Amino acid sequence: MLLVDAARFPRYKTCGGGLIGASLAELPAEAAAAVVRRIDTVTVARKGGRARAIRSTRPFLALTDRDRFDQALVDAAVAAGAVFRDGVRVRRLEEIEGGVAVHTTDGVVVSASVVVGADGSAGVVGRFVGVRIGRSDLGLELELELELAGMEPGWAGRVHLDWGAAPGTYGWVFPKADRLTVGVMERKGDGGATRRYLDRFVHELGLGGLPVERSSGHLTRWREPGSPVRRGRVLVAGDAAGLLEPWTREGISFALRSGRAAGEAAAAGARNGVARLEQYAQMVRVELEPEQRGGALLLRLFERHPLLVHLALTRTGRGADAFVRVCRGGLSIPDGLRRHPLLRRLAVVLAGDDRARS
Ligand SMILES: Cc1cc2nc3c(=O)[nH]c(=O)nc-3n(C[C@H](O)[C@H](O)[C@H](O)COP(=O)(O)OP(=O)(O)OC[C@H]3O[C@@H](n4cnc5c(N)ncnc54)[C@H](O)[C@@H]3O)c2cc1C
Repeated sequence: MLLVDAARFPRYKTCGGGLIGASLAELPAEAAAAVVRRIDTVTVARKGGRARAIRSTRPFLALTDRDRFDQALVDAAVAAGAVFRDGVRVRRLEEIEGGVAVHTTDGVVVSASVVVGADGSAGVVGRFVGVRIGRSDLGLELELELELAGMEPGWAGRVHLDWGAAPGTYGWVFPKADRLTVGVMERKGDGGATRRYLDRFVHELGLGGLPVERSSGHLTRWREPGSPVRRGRVLVAGDAAGLLEPWTREGISFALRSGRAAGEAAAAGARNGVARLEQYAQMVRVELEPEQRGGALLLRLFERHPLLVHLALTRTGRGADAFVRVCRGGLSIPDGLRRHPLLRRLAVVLAGDDRARS
């Protein structure tokens, strides 16, 4: 198996590096060792107002630095027999007799019996397969150098979330070993406004004085349910397939789960024929798209009634408990909605979600 990536590794990826239980469950030991913090408290505020804490007796979220984490995943793939070439950018794919020709930007052509594209939200494989994108959001982040002595007591074991003024937006502070990752997420459209939102957020938190180690942005995009994840012998996974949870934009668990399933299907498909590849598409439809639909419903509810969602999370034991359990991995959003049909119906009505009503 050949693994290529356009970037030189280890590479930075704009990302909070928050690992929910569904992500941790997928990790090889090498990547699990890249966890730098375990979180048992989330403080939640609205528009910079007073924060309320949701605490748990056990950690429900883990934090990692993506450069170390992704390098560890590459190391695990190499240990399992893959050949890794970094600095190799795929330019286009071409269907050929019995396989796929992969054209790289430096003129090399590699023939493969099956290709799995996990080339992110700006990659080429999603377009080749015909993934249809329902919505794009812009995430902006700062890595702030943390003065350990002064900041540690406040951030040990805690992350901070703040729902923004514009519908569906939020900001976060995720503490890493020696820095704070601070970011905001907003519907794509006005990059300047999103930048001002991040600046305001940082200053309201009193973090404006910390040295900025890195400032970056990245698009997240989510797929229209039912759009393809396979074209012939090419599968697409992770952000490239538009797989992520629309409310929180949590995408690592979707990348890991779809990547594993696509890899297994590709290995079996290369041996036993192309029919096996369709099982991957089936897994996405049955396991991942319902989670996306549940997240999309919560996002629409949150966009229309942010105060209601805030109060449900921070003032009701059940809301806080559900949040913790979804993060920890004991509950999925669709399972939670299925178990409480009245709540689901109410969410559908309040979200003005005609598609889900039928
Ligand atoms: C600001 C922000 C914060 C986020 N925070 C979180 C979080 O805390 N927790 C969470 O679960 N999710 C988070 N996400 C989402 C998460 O980052 C993504 O869902 C996840 O990285 C998807 O992984 P991936 O492997 O599919 O794509 P990526 O991580 O984007 O990796 C794609 C890889 O493909 C390579 N590539 C691209 N084009 C080519 C090409 N043509 N040829 C060869 N290689 C190519 C790139 O170099 C890259 O290494 C966040 C997203 C953003 C934008």
